[in-house]
Amino acid sequence: MNDELSRLIALQEFDTELTGFDREAERLRQEQAARELAAKDREAQAGLCRARAAELEQSRETLRAGGAEAAERIKERQVKMMQVQTSREHQALLKEIEDAKKQIRDTEEQMLQAEEDAEAELKRAAELEQLCKGELKLLAEEAKKTEEAVRQIAARRAEVEASRSQLAKEISAAQLKRYDKLLVKRKGLAVVRIIAGVCQGCFMTVPPQQFNLVRKGGEICSCPACQRILYYKADPNQPETMAPVRSQLEDLYEAEEDDEDELTE
Ligand SMILES: [Zn+2]
Repeated sequence: MNDELSRLIALQEFDTELTGFDREAERLRQEQAARELAAKDREAQAGLCRARAAELEQSRETLRAGGAEAAERIKERQVKMMQVQTSREHQALLKEIEDAKKQIRDTEEQMLQAEEDAEAELKRAAELEQLCKGELKLLAEEAKKTEEAVRQIAARRAEVEASRSQLAKEISAAQLKRYDKLLVKRKGLAVVRIIAGVCQGCFMTVPPQQFNLVRKGGEICSCPACQRILYYKADPNQPETMAPVRSQLEDLYEAEEDDEDELTE
């Protein structure tokens, strides 16, 4: 195989490895960030529960004041009852007293409900805070682990990066420039294998003549569709010819079926 092509293949392998390191480090960082976010979210939820409990306590105070005021009103109307002359006035006062009594009953119910709700919110808040405490401890440990893993990745990355730089020096400037451009334009894949005449970068079938050139490996060939640099590597599990077209495929399946028949007989 063309030496320059061999070097380009090796360069691609380094770059794929480098991308892998970057992805792995990014994944670890994102996982840690997600854990931190979840813990913060729980903390915020606990805060909301406590705020709702405080609101409920406030509404109980308002209800209590309303109830006290209704009780005052009853006393006052009862005193007035002694002084009224007409039955109409008497009826009106009785109605006011009944209304006030009903208000007190309702208020008591509402206060009880608010108390129950507030207790539930406080209980939930306490649960969340307990969870948070455990989580924060774990989070700190995880953060350390993540940091260490990212550090190790960076160290391995630096080694590969150095080897890559060394290799890059052995490639002609023009070829390297073209490779680097392709690497950026083609999402980190500048050199790809060709299998059965199909470019493994864009999965288009290259013309047979070009496939033969790539197979020979004497020169650097590009995929006509995606411009990636192509190389051929023999694989006992892969056919060495072009991918069969549809009608040939059908023939192939039929032939396989016949073989099976022979085997079972
Ligand atoms: Zn291609």
